[in-house]
Amino acid sequence: MSLPAGVLRGGLLPEPLIFERSTPGRTGADCDPHEVGGPAPDAVLPAALRRDDGLVGLPEVSELDVVRHFTRLSQWNLSAATTLYPLGSCTMKYNPLVNEALVRAPGFADLHPLLPDAWAQGTLELMDRLADFLRTVSGLPAISLQPAAGAHGELTGMKMVRAYHEDRGDPRNRVLIPASAHGTNPASAALCGYTVTELPANQAGILEVATVREHLGPDVAAMMVTNPNTIGLFERDIQAIAEAVHAAGALLYCDGANMNALLGVAKPGDMGADVLQFNLHKTFSTPHGGGGPGAGPVAVSARLEPYLPTPRLVRDADGLRWSEDFPKSIGRVRSFHGNVGILVRAYCYLRALGGDGLVDVTAMAVLNANYVRARLADVLPLAFPTPSLHECVFSDRELEATGVRTLDLAKRLLDYGFFAPTIYFPLVVPGAIMIEPTETESKQTLDEFIAAVRAIVAEADTAPELVKEAPHSTFIGRLDETRAARRPILRWQPAAAK
Ligand SMILES: *Cc1c(COP(=O)(O)O)cnc(C)c1O
Repeated sequence: MSLPAGVLRGGLLPEPLIFERSTPGRTGADCDPHEVGGPAPDAVLPAALRRDDGLVGLPEVSELDVVRHFTRLSQWNLSAATTLYPLGSCTMKYNPLVNEALVRAPGFADLHPLLPDAWAQGTLELMDRLADFLRTVSGLPAISLQPAAGAHGELTGMKMVRAYHEDRGDPRNRVLIPASAHGTNPASAALCGYTVTELPANQAGILEVATVREHLGPDVAAMMVTNPNTIGLFERDIQAIAEAVHAAGALLYCDGANMNALLGVAKPGDMGADVLQFNLHKTFSTPHGGGGPGAGPVAVSARLEPYLPTPRLVRDADGLRWSEDFPKSIGRVRSFHGNVGILVRAYCYLRALGGDGLVDVTAMAVLNANYVRARLADVLPLAFPTPSLHECVFSDRELEATGVRTLDLAKRLLDYGFFAPTIYFPLVVPGAIMIEPTETESKQTLDEFIAAVRAIVAEADTAPELVKEAPHSTFIGRLDETRAARRPILRWQPAAAK
């Protein structure tokens, strides 16, 4: 399996650290300030802001060095642009390139966030229309586009929940959250000063209204649910749960990260949600991962509307403008107006699809997940045997005898040319393997993926070491992930890595 260091592998080229490419005196752009026009930097910059020692410690490289460096590194990765990226709970779908072209239009890309409202009417109009779409999709009457990610939307939502209870003179201190929830749910509740009570699901993987009732009390401020939940199962008792929550004077927070399974078919507002965050980068297609960028608009019911972040967009005779005139608002949660580029992409995606298109998105996402579920259920045990919505979760239980575990299967998938699914989440499923194909994948691609998983399960019996030492074909082999995180060695080391 191992090739001599530095040999081209599958068209991939080795690449050192950019610091190792550095050559003293080499520069990317070479222009004489006098020729370009204007005064020399020395003449305009105060001495205190100039550095006499040059750019010590920064790589000195040409433009071509930079282009090759990052292009080569990018080719070492699998990505949504090269292969199926079935990461569950993250909706890593194909991101249409037309969105990228449109968001780079100078009218959007060059707009300064401090321009007077009157000069930004086009972008404000887009934001207002997007807000309208999202209100329709969520079934909730008011929305803020400010939060910069799903988790930030959760925090914003829970701050509004807190403001609502405090405003009524009844500050409460507890929030109910199912055990399968994404870790950001308890984190957001805790950041707002709440203690969290974890609720178990039933044998079928869903939450029962009786469990919710048992834990409700006058100290409960809200219940946070994800629907479909993180196992991809629809919480079918959601309306009864909402009624119980409301009867106890609490509010229902809906985590909207899984909206890909509901678009155009069911509305969280109709289910009784008081607040819902969208993850626009997931559901409405923005290339994301590695921490950003994102947008997490929060939609709210009428009783939370007064607490929405400011500034809010209002329309008067002169058009759209930002207003701070909402005395009960929790205030600003993000600089300027949020990640506007992602709002533009979401708007383009929505407009390209239209209402019927959104229904198709949901139907195809659910069909694709269930196709994978049905075609793999005989080789990998399902976490729960019931049909799922947009994602399906398996366990590594039956591989146990071979010594091959979920992590090994995920690593081996890289050798077959697929990005690995989400693993070990949700925590309630032992050795979880969570697959979300999304609506954008074809049956051919899914069949190839299914064949790869089946082949790996067979290898676990016949050649378990091959799986346990995977990946073999990637530029960097299996890492000790704990040490890699604690003591990162960034230098490329072909011999050590294998
Ligand atoms: C991704 C996700 C979040 C957090 O969203 P970010 O945009 O990553 O901050 C919250 N809940 C669920 C269920 C998620 O899948």
